[in-house]
Amino acid sequence: MHSWEWYVSKVMRLSLRWLRLCPHQGKSMQLKRLQDLWNYGKVILNSLYFNVLTNWDTVLDSMFEPIYWLVDSLTRWFGVVFVSLVIALTSSIVVIVYLCVLPLIIDTYPTHWVIWHLCYGHWNLVMVVFHYYKAITTSAGHPPQEKSDIPTVTICKKCIVPKPARTHHCSVCDKCVLKMDHHCPWLNNCVGHFNHRYFFSFCLYMTVGCIYCSISARDMFMDAYSAIEVKAENHSKTRKTSTYQTPPPPFTYQERLFHKSLLYLWVLTSSVALALGGLTIWHAVLITRGETSVERHINRKEKRRLQEKGKAFRNPYHYGRINNWKILFGVEKTSHWLTRVLLPSSHPPCGDGLTWDCPPHRKTMAI
Ligand SMILES: [Zn+2]
Ligand SMILES: [Zn+2]
Repeated sequence: MHSWEWYVSKVMRLSLRWLRLCPHQGKSMQLKRLQDLWNYGKVILNSLYFNVLTNWDTVLDSMFEPIYWLVDSLTRWFGVVFVSLVIALTSSIVVIVYLCVLPLIIDTYPTHWVIWHLCYGHWNLVMVVFHYYKAITTSAGHPPQEKSDIPTVTICKKCIVPKPARTHHCSVCDKCVLKMDHHCPWLNNCVGHFNHRYFFSFCLYMTVGCIYCSISARDMFMDAYSAIEVKAENHSKTRKTSTYQTPPPPFTYQERLFHKSLLYLWVLTSSVALALGGLTIWHAVLITRGETSVERHINRKEKRRLQEKGKAFRNPYHYGRINNWKILFGVEKTSHWLTRVLLPSSHPPCGDGLTWDCPPHRKTMAI
C-alpha cells in the first residue's frame, strides 16, 4: 500500500512531464519569440533611414550619397591646400615688395611719393591680413539644435532640425548655416551671417591691393621685361655674328632674380586683380540687391514662377540699396564708415541671423 503523499508526488511528476513534452505550446512560444525578433529588427532597420519627409528626391539623394561624400571630402581636403596656397602666394608678393620694390621706390621716388607708398601699402596689407584671418576663423553661424521659439520656415532633411529664414544646409560642413552665401574653398569655411562682411572685405581689399601692386610695379615690370628681352636678343646675335665681337656683360645672379621676381609679381597681381575683381563686383551686385548667392538662384526661380501667374516678385530681405550695405558692414552712424569699414574692426553683424522680419537698425538707417 502506498501513502497519499506518494500518489500526490506521482501526479505532479506526470503533469510536469506532460508539460515538458507538450509540442504545441513550445512551438508557439518559439514562433512568438521569432516574430518579436523580426519586428524588433524591422524597427531598428527603419530607424536608420525612416523620415516622415521621405520622397523620391531623398531616395535619389541617398543613392548618390557616396559620390557627394567623395566630392565633399575632396573639397574639405582642397580647402586646406587652397588656404595654404593663398598664404604662400600673398607672402611671396609681400617679400618681393619688401626686397625689390620698396628699396627701389625709396631710392628713386620723391619723398611725398615714398610716404604715400609706405602708408597706403601697409594699410592695405593690414586690411587684407586682418579680414582673411577673421574670414577663415569666424564661424558663419548655425541655428540652435535644441527646441526653441525661433520662427522657422522649413525643416532641414539632413540635420532633421527646423531651419530659420535664409538658412541653408552646407554639405561640405554638414551643418545648417545662417544666411548661407556659399562654401568657400579659398577660406576652407562657409560664408554666412557672421563672416559675410569679413569675406567681402577680404575680396575687396585683396583686389584693391593687387591693382595697387600691378600699377605701382608696372614701370619696373617693363624695365625688367625689356632687360630680359635685350639679354636674349644679344645672346642670339653674338652667336650668329663674328666671334671677335665683345659680348655684353652678363647679368649677375641677383639681377636675374630681381628681374624674374618683378615679372612674377606683376603677372600674379594683375591676374588676381582681374579674377578676384570680377568675383568682388558680382558679390557687390548681390549685396546691393539684398541677396546671397544661394538666394540668387531661389529668387530667380520664384520670380519666373510668379511672372507666369502675372504677379510681381519682391525680395523680402531687400531693405534699400544703401541700407543693405549698412547692414552688411554694421554701419549705424557716419563715423562707422571710417572705424568699421576702412579700419580693422571685429564688431558683430546686425541681428542674430535667426530672424529677419525687421532689420535691427532699419529706423535709424531710413533715408
Ligand atoms: Zn542642415
Ligand atoms: Zn560649408
